[in-house]
Amino acid sequence: MKILVINCGSSSLKYQLIDMEGEEVLAKGLVERIGLEGSLLTHRTNGTKTEIKKEIPNHKVAIQLVIDALLHPEHGALKNLGEIAAVGHRVVHGGEKFARSVVIDEEVMAALRECSDLAPLHNPANIIGIEACQALLPGVPQVAVFDTAFHQTMPKEAYIYGLPYEFYEKYGIRRYGFHGTSHKYVARRAARLLGRPLTELKLVTCHLGNGSSITAVKGGVSVDTSLGFGTISGTIMGTRCGDIDPAVIPFLMEKENLTPGEMNDILYKKSGLLGLSGVSSDARDIEAAAAAGNERAQLALNVLAYLTRKYIGAYAAAMGGLDAIVFTAGIGENSDLIRRMICTGLEFLGAELDEEKNRVRGQEADVATSASKVRILVIPTNEELMIAQETAELLG
Ligand code: ADP
Repeated sequence: MKILVINCGSSSLKYQLIDMEGEEVLAKGLVERIGLEGSLLTHRTNGTKTEIKKEIPNHKVAIQLVIDALLHPEHGALKNLGEIAAVGHRVVHGGEKFARSVVIDEEVMAALRECSDLAPLHNPANIIGIEACQALLPGVPQVAVFDTAFHQTMPKEAYIYGLPYEFYEKYGIRRYGFHGTSHKYVARRAARLLGRPLTELKLVTCHLGNGSSITAVKGGVSVDTSLGFGTISGTIMGTRCGDIDPAVIPFLMEKENLTPGEMNDILYKKSGLLGLSGVSSDARDIEAAAAAGNERAQLALNVLAYLTRKYIGAYAAAMGGLDAIVFTAGIGENSDLIRRMICTGLEFLGAELDEEKNRVRGQEADVATSASKVRILVIPTNEELMIAQETAELLG
């Protein structure tokens, strides 16, 4: 069974064609600058890379180009479109309506449009991608896999904010959580690596990339997560501020005479590693600057490690125990330094990092000492494969 996975952004589109037998990636690629000047498709199959530069005015044209590339006699991966069993779409926000992946029909489309209010930058692009696939691949089942769905199992005390209850009822203001596909994938892999049933495990999964979130996974389901209504709470990220006292927001808006849009820009785009260090939003640049003696870069690293460690402790308390800490995404998979900084001080919980084993980069590994009661795992995430698996599972 071959599944096409589509991740549609407002001006970009990522895709992978996955053969579920052997879970092999047959082709993958990226369309960039849709609707802008200089649009480009980069397509990869069997170690070959093809670049197609042409005007791509909209997502329908982008998906047609992807289909043409997949069918191409030289760099394609399909003989005919009938080989695509289904399309799995990443959808950012499923609100409270979607606690799991769904086969898309008219009713689902209407519900997705309703959720657009909650993710105005993302859901409209996801919807455009689905509509384009429906038009170009008629009769092929389309499945929506949500970033938020995995977190719909959180108990109410974990997802409700201490605001007047009417705002939850009127506007759906609550913690939703994101990166659910990644947290679910690494939790499943962790159970495999540990050789124990997921239903018995208490895990803290740390997805640390440009955007970051930390999740408490108890018995295979999310019981708390650090991102909330938007995507800025929790630990600091590349350019996002993480947890701050909300009192700062009206104070700053008044002092600096800021509009809500300008304030939002500060919280989402000018804060975090970038805002603290003044150097970069990229953890590699921050590590290099800190090593060269830049104190604010060192401070940014310290804050990232401190907040992440605090969440691990909080979630161990929320779950009443801890079997493993899982690190994933760009920083979690690759930075031995940041993993070490986070784990230093967690020995009291029974988590002991092995400095040697921790040198690993971008591959599955248990990096705890053999005596450590809590295992510390590095697991590269694979959201596309998870989307393909969910799509295949749903279609039986
Ligand atoms: P996104 O959230 O955009 O998917 P990624 O998961 O790719 O982001 O993570 C990007 C982050 O990972 C960047 O901050 C980058 O510096 C960091 N990163 C990647 N490789 C390394 C490395 N070898 N050491 C430290 N940080 C790394």
